[in-house]
Amino acid sequence: MSAKQCYVCHKNLTSKNDSREHIFLDSLGDPSPVSGILCRDCNNWLGEKVDYAFYNTFKELYKTVSGKLELVKMAVSNTSDTFIIPMKNQVIQNSPIKAQNTFHQHNNELFTARFLDMTDAKEFIEKKKKRARKNNQHIDFQIEKTASIPQFEIIPQIDKVLFTLEILKMATGYLHSINYKGYILGDDIFPILFRYKNQADPYFLFKEIGIIYFDKIILPCLTNRELQNIHFLPGKSFATITNYHYLLISIIGLINVSIPLNLNAPLTDSY
Ligand SMILES: [Zn+2]
Repeated sequence: MSAKQCYVCHKNLTSKNDSREHIFLDSLGDPSPVSGILCRDCNNWLGEKVDYAFYNTFKELYKTVSGKLELVKMAVSNTSDTFIIPMKNQVIQNSPIKAQNTFHQHNNELFTARFLDMTDAKEFIEKKKKRARKNNQHIDFQIEKTASIPQFEIIPQIDKVLFTLEILKMATGYLHSINYKGYILGDDIFPILFRYKNQADPYFLFKEIGIIYFDKIILPCLTNRELQNIHFLPGKSFATITNYHYLLISIIGLINVSIPLNLNAPLTDSY
């Protein structure tokens, strides 16, 4: 049996330095790590320099499908108001939604306010009445209008270079885990990045190629409605070779990317 090597630093993997790698991020719901592809040092390095920022970008989106009751930070469509929404499996839960910066009081007599539900509104009015009684005032509040819960949305701010690196890392990890015999772009890129790992900007070598790759290969996937409307198991990430030329990666079942396997061709053509 030939020794397995870490795909980043090329050290032989032994029982001492082999690591359990979550190809699709433990923190984004990957339940099954694989061994025999990364050494512990490189696993930690990639976790710190690539995974961590990626996780931060998508953790709110993941919370919407994690399977647990989560407090999710979301914005209302078309406004900049942010809310903390109790949510489980993409369904808003029946507990009060805490609104941030909802109230606009104009003066002591007249004010307008927005509430997300009647509980929220009544609580607010009771507080106002109490304060008025304390000051020996009487104020009568009436709710004039009720509105339905608005549409909430999460729009992650994607960093092209980082997103591309993470996709590449998932692809490389997955292809090694199935002992894929063809060309793997990450086998060229990660060892080079590793060699310059002490640079202040860990991505500087990948910036140019990362942006080209994102614009040419990843962006068309992210804007492809058909691909993005496929909801694979929400909360679960996976990869699969869909035919001989494409690798489909689904991140938490909500973000789907289909990348050509012979990646050196389209990239070198562009120069
Ligand atoms: Zn290594």
